[in-house]
Parts: sequence; structure tokens; C-alpha cells
Amino acid sequence: MLILVFRFILGLSVLEIILSSLSLAQTEKSSKMENYEKISKKIIEAALNDSVGWERLAYMCDTYGSRLAGSENLNNAIKWAYSEMKKIGFENVKLEEVMVPHWVRGNEFCEMTLPRKQKLEMIGLGGSIATPKEGITAPVIVFHDFDELEKNSKDVKGKIVLFNERFKNYGQAVQYRVSGASRAARYGAVACLIRSVTPIAMNIPHTGVMGYEDSIPKIPAAALSPEDASLIERIHDRGQNVVLHLYMEAETLPDTLSYNLMGELRGKTNPEEIIAFGGHSDSWDVGSGAQDDASGVITSLEALRILKELGIQPNKTLRCVFWVNEENGTRGGINYAERHGKEKHSLVFEFDSGVFPPEGIRYKGPDSIFNDFKKFEPLFQDIDSIKILKGGGGTDIGPMMRLGIPAMSLNTSDKGKYFWYHHSKTDTPDKVDPLDFRKCIATIALSMFLYSEMP
Ligand SMILES: [Zn+2]
Repeated sequence: MLILVFRFILGLSVLEIILSSLSLAQTEKSSKMENYEKISKKIIEAALNDSVGWERLAYMCDTYGSRLAGSENLNNAIKWAYSEMKKIGFENVKLEEVMVPHWVRGNEFCEMTLPRKQKLEMIGLGGSIATPKEGITAPVIVFHDFDELEKNSKDVKGKIVLFNERFKNYGQAVQYRVSGASRAARYGAVACLIRSVTPIAMNIPHTGVMGYEDSIPKIPAAALSPEDASLIERIHDRGQNVVLHLYMEAETLPDTLSYNLMGELRGKTNPEEIIAFGGHSDSWDVGSGAQDDASGVITSLEALRILKELGIQPNKTLRCVFWVNEENGTRGGINYAERHGKEKHSLVFEFDSGVFPPEGIRYKGPDSIFNDFKKFEPLFQDIDSIKILKGGGGTDIGPMMRLGIPAMSLNTSDKGKYFWYHHSKTDTPDKVDPLDFRKCIATIALSMFLYSEMP
């Protein structure tokens, strides 16, 4: 009736009224999108022209070096990053105490003694026990995979087992590092060696975490360079007797105090809603953990700095987090979820896949949010051809994800190169391309800002 009156008065049809209100909403929507386009261009321009970020990454790696949990290096690096956050002027900058495992490598070596003497390129696996003081001298038996071990389990007793499985992908290759020792010890092996988890052979061994099954005797575990693993395999497969001597001083000390670090840009309209994003501050005790994961924490810090310097105030609170102890315990991630799990989090984001050209932002959460966020995909194309995809996650944010918090991660197009350097002495700042680094900062800054705009 009212409409009829209006129609009479204004000469408008019902359809016309609906159409005009629809087009008003559309104009609002497109002007919002235009505004986002403008802000996006500003963010991308600032990030791609940035020169401070890469220098900060290199400074951290060169000054503090490798940053294994429990080490002084790590705590010094975290305290330095804390003062950097303060200097930049982030809000609520704080260190939160976390007790972390403290494994130390000590001296170690491995040599072939039969059929001839040769020192092998080796590195102990994180968490391994030591050998006895006199070392272990034993014949070696070589397997490619666990199936071969199971089929030949009666031949294992008293021997050093070498798993020489080639790298197809990380998930397939890493299982020998993680559980090879206990699998071999079950049949009486005295030590476990693996082929380093890497697709490239440059005669460099790669370390990483391993674990023991409680019910099985613990034996020392180490990785050989791909070349030396292949050398042993060739001699072994000819039926020759190969004897190795392994010496390791590795030791697990009592847990040590370390810290999660965080700093914020408080939200404008919804400050109580948190978007926590970052990477992990620790690394292995070789190289300087430039890719894994100084690049994750420093790109995140720079992303927040750029938003701050541009005067962009997000709707929700953006919290940059340096989680500690991802490599051998995830204590930082667990501690964060315990302390902050009750705060309202809209998102947890992790970057821990190495700096290369960004290619995918992966999101794990409600489809409705994914579909809305996917609409922003065109805004990222000035950085690189970046897709917004389903999936996403990370070790540090795992405990928050298990509380049901949506997660996001950044994937880069590494073409297999990440595992050339991963957990080895070659993971140093020269492996981090400055342009790719800036592109990753741009991607993180833009995705954090746009996500804070989501209803
Ligand atoms: Zn990592």
C-alpha cells in the first residue's frame, strides 16, 4: 500500500525502487574495491621499493648466526628483534617466557674404515644420543626404504643401518630421518644413518629433528651427504664388507628459558579481534637459518612496519609473532595457544617455506570467508601471479588451528630449491633473493591488511 502511494507520488515502479537500491549497493561495493585498489598499490609500491628489510635479515643472520633452541645465539637474536620492534614503534611489544628443549651437538665424525679409510660428510640428527666414548665401529647394511628393512630384518643385528632413499618429496624422504633409528634399533641395529633429506648432491649433509620410540633401545642417528650415502651403497651392493666408525658427543641438557616475541598494530574498529602472523625465530645449529626461518619472521616484521609507516590502521589487531622452537619441539606454538587461545583470533598465519617468488596464499577456514577473500586475488597481481587457494597451515600455528582458528600460509615457487639449503650450513642470507624477499613482504602486508577488512 505504502509503495503504491509512493508510486503514485513519485511515479516509480516497485522494480525501479529495488533496482535503484541495488545499484546504490553496487556503487558502494565498487567504490570500496576502488579504495582497496588504491591502498593495495601503496602497500605494494612501498614493499617493492624497500631496502631496510633484507638488511635486517642479513644483520640478524650474520650477527647472531645459527639459533638452535636452548642456545645463547637464539636468545640474543630474540632480544635484538624485541628492541627492533620497540624502535619501530609497534604496540604491545613483549617477550613471553617459553621453556625449550636444549640439545647440543658436540664433536662428531664418521669414517669408512673398510674397504679403505675415508672421512665421510656427516651431521648428527637433532635429538640423537651420543655414541659411547670410543665410538661405534660396525659393518653397515644399506636399505632404500622400510620395506627392505622389514624383509631383511634378521640381517640387521649388530650393524649400522643406512637408509639411502632418494628424495622425491619432503614428506616421503623425511620419515627415515624422523623414525629410522627406532625402526632399525627394533632389529638390533647399533646406529642409524640416513641419506640427507635433499634433492641435490653437493656433498653437504643436512640435519633435522629425529625421535625415539620409548619401548625401543636408543641408538645414535646421523645423516650422510648424498654422495657419501651413494658411495657406501655402491660398495655394499657389490657384496664387499663396508665397516664404518661413528663418533658423536650429542647430549640433551635440561630445558632452557627462551621466548615468543610479539608486537602489534592495534585494530581500529575491532581491536579485540586478533590476526596473529609470523614465523619461527629458531633454526638448526648450522648455517644461519636465513631461509628457515629468519625470512619468515623478518618478512612478517617488515610487513607490519610498512603498514605502520603508510599510516594504514587495520580494522582488526595485527600481531606479528616470532614463535620459538619450531624445529625441535613446537614449544612456542603450544605456549602461544595456551596463553592466547582464549583471545578472539580471526586468523593465524605462518610463513615458513622459504623466500622465492610468491605464488599462493593458502587459506583453511569457512568457505564463505574463503570466497570473499578470493575476490581480492586481482589486487595481488602487481606483485606476482599469486593465487588464493584452499589449504594452508604450519607447525607453529598448528596448536591454534586445533582450537578451530582459520589459518593461512604463504607458498613460494621454489622449484625444489628450498631443500637444497634446508637445515644445512648453506642456509645463509646470500640464498635469499632481495627482490623475492620484497615480494614476500608485499604479499604478507597486503593479505594481512585485506583480511583485517573482512567482516
Ligand atoms: Zn622452518
